[in-house]
Amino acid sequence: MSSQALMWCMPPANYRKKRYKVRDKGPSHLQRYGGRTAPIPDSFIQNATCRSGRPGYPAHMFEFFLQFPVFCGTDLCPFGKGLVQNGVFLRGLRNRVGGPSCFAQALCDKKKQLCEGSTRMEEGLDSDGNTFSTREVMWEIYTGDEKGRDEWYTKGVNYWSAVEASVDGVLGGYGKISGRDVLDSNKFLMDCFKTLIPDARDQQLTALDCGAGVGRVTKNLLVHHFYEVDLVEPVQQFLDVARQELHFDFVGTKLKNVNFYHNSLQDFVPPEGRYDVIWIQWCIGHLTDADVVEFFCRAKLGLKPGGFIVLKENIAKSGFVLDKEDASVTRSDEYFRDLFQQGGLHVYKHRTQTAFPRELFAVHMYCLTTEFKKKKKKTKKAGKKGNTPGVIKRKKRREEQQGPPDPLSRSLWGWGWGAAFSKENEGALRNGRQPVQATERPVTLSACSESAWGTGG
Ligand code: SAH
Repeated sequence: MSSQALMWCMPPANYRKKRYKVRDKGPSHLQRYGGRTAPIPDSFIQNATCRSGRPGYPAHMFEFFLQFPVFCGTDLCPFGKGLVQNGVFLRGLRNRVGGPSCFAQALCDKKKQLCEGSTRMEEGLDSDGNTFSTREVMWEIYTGDEKGRDEWYTKGVNYWSAVEASVDGVLGGYGKISGRDVLDSNKFLMDCFKTLIPDARDQQLTALDCGAGVGRVTKNLLVHHFYEVDLVEPVQQFLDVARQELHFDFVGTKLKNVNFYHNSLQDFVPPEGRYDVIWIQWCIGHLTDADVVEFFCRAKLGLKPGGFIVLKENIAKSGFVLDKEDASVTRSDEYFRDLFQQGGLHVYKHRTQTAFPRELFAVHMYCLTTEFKKKKKKTKKAGKKGNTPGVIKRKKRREEQQGPPDPLSRSLWGWGWGAAFSKENEGALRNGRQPVQATERPVTLSACSESAWGTGG
């Protein structure tokens, strides 16, 4: 804010408090609304201008001008009533009372409060660096009414329509990670099958590939496990390439039939009870929260009894990150879990993708079921001698032959090194890395190009 603007905020020389009796509304505004205000970017605070003495305005008021997106017409607007156009607060009127209640002071307080509150999990960013205090604020600004929602979806599809219809294109130039992605997906799917559909190999299963792009997931993963796959994709040229890619005689695969649906996920209604697995990868970020939850509800109906959903997505460290270019939102793990709950889905299994380049978001895989399923605990069967691992058996035999080993050598070569190794691996696993092998250090997933909004791993 310029010094001139600050001067305008100061009380007039002849100001007498008693006479005006104006209440200080600035700093208390946040309290009144329980801290739920639209965010104020630094740029706004620096650029805000104020003007007083406009004809027709009371002498103790000044007019202020700014360009600031707000969730207006509601209690989330931090500036009270004012002129709002297209979700942007342009002009307001404020008391010109000095001291702690002057406008500049109110802004400083608000800035401080925003900084203090910036660690809240709910807060998010957009690709321009604007912050949003809650996801509701973000959705209201970016989608708002029905027209805004349509524009949001059109933007997303237009973005992808301009992208090359290839694996490299759908992976944003990271075609090289497709192999690694499929490897971990395959392992995850097999793990899910093991307990949820144990006889999957002998069954003729059906899958749905959501936001299928050029059919990469179907071609490299689903063909090996499913008898029939349906692909749903809103971009026509992607679907055309998928048709070509999947038009082969399926030799060496399980796949016998593929169907293509030119549709968006927010409109697609899965046929009732058709699918054993619904695979959703790298496309749910295009859907608004409300549409995600509605799709989950429809997807549940589309599942066969015992079927499940796999969601594989980029994950923000906290809150969310909105990409204005392709109209998508990267959500945090916490955010997703909230949406699963709203959609009546339970997280049966959860894994992190390994060995992706450091600069990418963490990628998580969720296996979602319609019913809460208790995981079977691995129990040791007492008294079953034949089950003891060989390495322990050998060690026991040596102890019998040589007597107890030297305690020092035991701590070094027995559990000592083992503990150090497993501790490192435990940390690595917690951080979403691969366990460390003796000779090779794995590529980590833990860093992201943005400092605050990156990987969850
Ligand atoms: N799942 C594929 C493609 C990922 S790229 C893979 O992993 O290879 C993201 C895909 O989401 C694009 O094909 C894009 O067209 C699709 N998409 C964009 N908006 C969508 C929407 N509203 N519903 C369904 N898919 C959408």
